[in-house]
Amino acid sequence: MIRVRFAPSPTGMFHVGGARSALFNWALAEQSGGRFVLRIEDTDAARNRPEWTEGIISALAWIGIHEDSPFFEGPYFQSSYEEQHREAVAKLVAAGRAYRCTCTRDDVKARTGSEHRGYDGFCRERGLAEGAVRFRTPDEGVTVVDDLVRGRVEFPNDAMEDFVVARADGSPLFALANVVDDIEMRISHVVRAEEHLSNTPKQQLLWEALGVTPPVWAHLPVIVNEKRQKLSKRRDKVALESYRDEGYLPEAMVNYLMLLGWGPGGDREIMPWSEMVPLFRLEDVNPSSAFFDEKKLRAFNGEYIRALPLDDFIARCEPWLAPGWDREVFAGIAGLAQTRLAVLSEITANVDFLFLDEPVFDQASWDKGMKTSAREILTGYLARLEKSDFDPESLKTALEEVGAEHGLKLGKAQAPVRVAITGRTVGLPLFESIEALGRERSVARLRAALT
Ligand code: GLU
Repeated sequence: MIRVRFAPSPTGMFHVGGARSALFNWALAEQSGGRFVLRIEDTDAARNRPEWTEGIISALAWIGIHEDSPFFEGPYFQSSYEEQHREAVAKLVAAGRAYRCTCTRDDVKARTGSEHRGYDGFCRERGLAEGAVRFRTPDEGVTVVDDLVRGRVEFPNDAMEDFVVARADGSPLFALANVVDDIEMRISHVVRAEEHLSNTPKQQLLWEALGVTPPVWAHLPVIVNEKRQKLSKRRDKVALESYRDEGYLPEAMVNYLMLLGWGPGGDREIMPWSEMVPLFRLEDVNPSSAFFDEKKLRAFNGEYIRALPLDDFIARCEPWLAPGWDREVFAGIAGLAQTRLAVLSEITANVDFLFLDEPVFDQASWDKGMKTSAREILTGYLARLEKSDFDPESLKTALEEVGAEHGLKLGKAQAPVRVAITGRTVGLPLFESIEALGRERSVARLRAALT
């Protein structure tokens, strides 16, 4: 059975790169009827916080990786495997694969003349009973990592120092704890970010030294921004939660994240999860860096929004509507908004004019809207509005006539009316908006704009 894992450290918001790794793993588990193990690597007590763990679990659920799915296993917590970590360290020492070392960084530097040369093996044959534990790496040859994405990657052993697997107090370091847990959890495929590729030869040696066949490795390409820089939380919007809170649909997000390094082939990009799962293959993942294109993601999201059945769209807008806003009125206009949104949070600014006593004016929109002949247009339209039939067609004809009287095309004549009615210069189709607002309130707004 294919057993994959996702092993985040709960030290911050949930990174979109983590979400991509999780989805690739999830696709493998689902397509093969295997298991996706969630392991929280919570051994860095200083940086972990329980709320980050909860954040990871809820963000995973948001993209469809649910704890109650038959493919899901866990969450397990690395901190509860301390005994296994210590046992593994003891086993390595007993077998002569690791040894104790009391050298400080300064000692090594004094001997080798450099901070960068790595450990010189000074304690290798000293048989110390105390100190940090170093793994004895081979002096010659190469360690070959067969990576499903990157192919055969060779690491010369003479460039690999005897690395520390546990501190003097017995607490394990990442490379060891991660391997011991993977062995414990019978992981068959390690699919993770490329930044871990450099750990992989060391980890592969640990698997072998612990007497277990290493897993299949697959390192996923780096995700970069438009400047081809690695996506970073200081510079870029990387938290999955922030996309959720802006009103990205999880299905659009999932679809987009799956394309970061992989594609279903052909020129199809928009594809639901259920269709992608059977097509997904690690061998098809492209090793070169993947561009996280927020514009494209927005466009995807817009497509997904437009494809929603109207009642589903209405339900999904709920978080962005104030409690007091009349839901029936909203339902009446929602269809007009649905075709225009890139993200759900934009719904608020599109419909608030209907529910507020006065529209939210901002000075810039006001100045932009109230230009050429604005007063004349508003006055003329007001007079017609009081008498006109109140359907969009008649409302439009009325404004066309007023515009014509002042030598203005409809587009120009609309600007001041739109600002007076909605407070904004762009938004839903104007005449439908006026119809939805009703005669009385529309008239009052035009009057207010004239004072
Ligand atoms: N906790 C590590 C991380 O978040 C896990 C690396 C791995 O997947 O092996 O980067």
